[in-house]
Amino acid sequence: MAEHESLEFGKADFVLLDNVSMEEFMANLKLRFDKGRIYTYIGEVVVSVNPYRAMNIYGRDTVEQYKGRELYERPPHLFAIADAAYKAMKRRNKDTCIVISGESGAGKTEASKYIMQYIAAITNPNQRAEVERVKNMLLKSNCVLEAFGNAKTNRNDNSSRFGKYMDINFDFKGDPIGGHISNYLLEKCRVIFQQEGERSFHSFYQLLRGAPDSLIRSLHIQKDPAAYNYIKVGGQIKSSINDGADFKAVADAMKVIGFTGDEIQTVYKILATILHLGNLTFGVDGDVTLIENTKLVSILRELLSTKEENVEKALLYRTVATGRDVIEKQHTVQEASYGRDALAKAMYERLFCWIVGRINDIIEVKNYDAKIHGKNTVIGVLDIYGFEIFQNNSFEQFCINYCNEKLQQLFIQLVLKQEQEEYQREGIPWKHIDYFNNQIIVDLVEQQHKGIFSVLDEACMNVGKVTDEVFLQGLNTKLAKHAHYTSRKVVMVGADYSLFLLKGMWPEGKLSITEVTKRPLTAATLFKNSMISLVENLACKEPYYVRCIKPNDVKSPLLFEQERCRHQVEYLGLLENVRVRRAGFAYRQTYPRFLQRYKMISEFTWPNHELSSDKEAVKRLLQGCGFDHDVAYGKTKVFIRTPRTLFSLEEQRAEM
Ligand code: ATP
Ligand code: MG
Repeated sequence: MAEHESLEFGKADFVLLDNVSMEEFMANLKLRFDKGRIYTYIGEVVVSVNPYRAMNIYGRDTVEQYKGRELYERPPHLFAIADAAYKAMKRRNKDTCIVISGESGAGKTEASKYIMQYIAAITNPNQRAEVERVKNMLLKSNCVLEAFGNAKTNRNDNSSRFGKYMDINFDFKGDPIGGHISNYLLEKCRVIFQQEGERSFHSFYQLLRGAPDSLIRSLHIQKDPAAYNYIKVGGQIKSSINDGADFKAVADAMKVIGFTGDEIQTVYKILATILHLGNLTFGVDGDVTLIENTKLVSILRELLSTKEENVEKALLYRTVATGRDVIEKQHTVQEASYGRDALAKAMYERLFCWIVGRINDIIEVKNYDAKIHGKNTVIGVLDIYGFEIFQNNSFEQFCINYCNEKLQQLFIQLVLKQEQEEYQREGIPWKHIDYFNNQIIVDLVEQQHKGIFSVLDEACMNVGKVTDEVFLQGLNTKLAKHAHYTSRKVVMVGADYSLFLLKGMWPEGKLSITEVTKRPLTAATLFKNSMISLVENLACKEPYYVRCIKPNDVKSPLLFEQERCRHQVEYLGLLENVRVRRAGFAYRQTYPRFLQRYKMISEFTWPNHELSSDKEAVKRLLQGCGFDHDVAYGKTKVFIRTPRTLFSLEEQRAEM
C-alpha cells in the first residue's frame, strides 16, 4: 500500500483525493512538483511531470528500494511500474508492455531509458556473459537511434522525430536474451528543412564536429555546419549540445552493437553525400538542365562508388514508362532541385531504417536461441511522439495525433478491461462504468472507404475522378508538396539509381515497367497499417502506463504553468482515469502482503495468526477495525473501496 508519505508532499495517488475535481487534481500535482515529487500514481498508472533538472532518484540505491517490492510499498516511481511489468512477466508468464505518452518534451524518452536501465539493473544476477552482452546492446541502441532519429526542436533539445517500440525478450530465468525495435514514420523532411530555431538530425552535426581530420578529408567535408545548406536552415548552428563528444559515443555504441568498420564508414559516407547534395545547384544551357558545381559531382561519385554519369542521370532525368517503353525525360531546374531534395530525404530515411534493421539483426532472438532458452516472454516499451497542436497542422501532426487517439482508445479499453477482469477473476461483483469513447474519432480517420485516410488515398490516386472534387483537389494541392505524400516519386528516384553503396538499403532494386504501373501504398496507408498492427500487438499484452506532463515551455525546473498542465491533464483523460479507478476499489492487495504490512494493528494477527487462512485473518483484522463495510474479499486479494480506510490503516500502523 502507498508508502505513507507525509502529507506535506501531497497525495501519492490521485485516487486518494478527497474530491475528484480538476481543482484538487491540479493542486496536488503542483504541490508535488514544487516539493520535487515528480511521480504520482493513479492506481497503477504513473503520472510524471518533467523536472527539467537532474534528480538523484535513479541510482543503484533507488533500484534496490524498488526491486521485487509491490507497487504501493514505496513512493511512486517509474521503477515501481517497471518492476510491476517485470514481475507480471516473470511470475505470471505474461507478455507486458509499458506505454509512455505525453507531448513533445514531456519526458517520454527519458522515462523509457530509465525503465530499460532498471530492467537491466535487476536482471542477470548470475552475471552470465551472454546476457550482459545483450543488455549492453539494448542500452547502447538508444544512443545510436537518438543520434539518427532525434533533433533539436523549439520544444525539446533532444526531440524524437520517430516513434519507437522496443520489445525485450526474456528467458525462463527472467533474463534478457534479445530484443526487437519497430520504428514509425521518421520526420524526414527535417533532412532538408528546419524551422527557425531548430536543427536537423543530430547525426550531421556530430559528424562535422566530431569526426577526426582524416575522415573529414576523405569525405571532402568541412567542419563548419554553416557550410551546408540543408542543415543551416534553422539557424541553430551553435547549441549547448556537445556534438563532438556525442560523435565518439555513437561510434563506440555502433561498434559495441556489432556494426562493422565498413558499415560505419558507409554510414558516414551517406551523411556526407546528403550534405553535399544540399549544396548542388542547377542551371540551364540552352534547353539543357545541368549541374553547376561539377566538383561536387565527382565528390558524390567517389562517395557513392558509382560512375559520374550515374550521378548526373539520377539528378537530371526521370524515367517515364510509356506503353512498353521506358524513356528518359529531362528535368527542369525546379524539378531537378525537387528531385535532389527527395533523394536526400529518401537516402536518410533508408539509412535510418537500415540502421534499425541492422540493430535488429544483431539483437533479435534467433530460432536456435529460443529453443535453448525455452519459454520466451516479452516486455515492450513504447515511446512515441505525443499530441502536437500547432497553429498550422500538417500531415505529420495528423498522423501523430491519429496515433495518439488510437493509443488513448487502447488506454480506455484496457484500463477498464483490466479492472473488470480483475474483479471477475477474484469473484467480486462489478457494475459496468461508462466512459468517453473516442472510437468515433478513430473511425473517422481509419474506416475503410469513408475514413479520412481512405479519402486521402483516393485523392492521391485519382485526382478529379472522386465525387467531392473540390475537397479532394483542395487536399491534393495542400499535400502535393508534402514529404510523405510524394513518397512514391521518391522511391523511383532512388531505385533508378545504381548505387553500389546503397544496395542493401534499396532492396527493391530497379523497378520494372509492370511494377511502375502498380499502385504503391501511400504513406498514409502505410502509417495507418503500422498503427493498427502496433495497437493489436499492445492489446494482447498486459499494459502499464506512464503519462508524462510538460510543466512549462521554457525548460524551467521551477515553473509550473497551471493552464498548460491543466490542458494536458484534460486531453490525457487523467481525471476520468481517477474516476474509473475510484468507482471500483481503490486498493487491492494479496492477503499475505496485506498481513505483512498491517498485522501489527490487530491482536488477532500479531505476531502471527492462528486462523485457518490468511484471508480469514485479514477479515478478522478489518472487522476489528470497523472497516468491514468498505472492503470486499476476493479469492486471493482484499479490495478496499475508499482511500480513507487505507489512510486510517496507515495511521494506525504508524502509531504502533
Ligand atoms: P519528444 O516527444 O520531443 O521526443 P520527450 O517526451 O521524449 O519529447 P524527453 O526527450 O524525454 O522528451 O525529455 C526532454 C528533456 O527534459 C530531456 O532532454 C531532459 O533535459 C528533461 N527531462 C525529461 N525527463 C527528465 C527526468 N526524469 N529528469 C531530468 N530531466 C528530465
Ligand atoms: Mg522523445
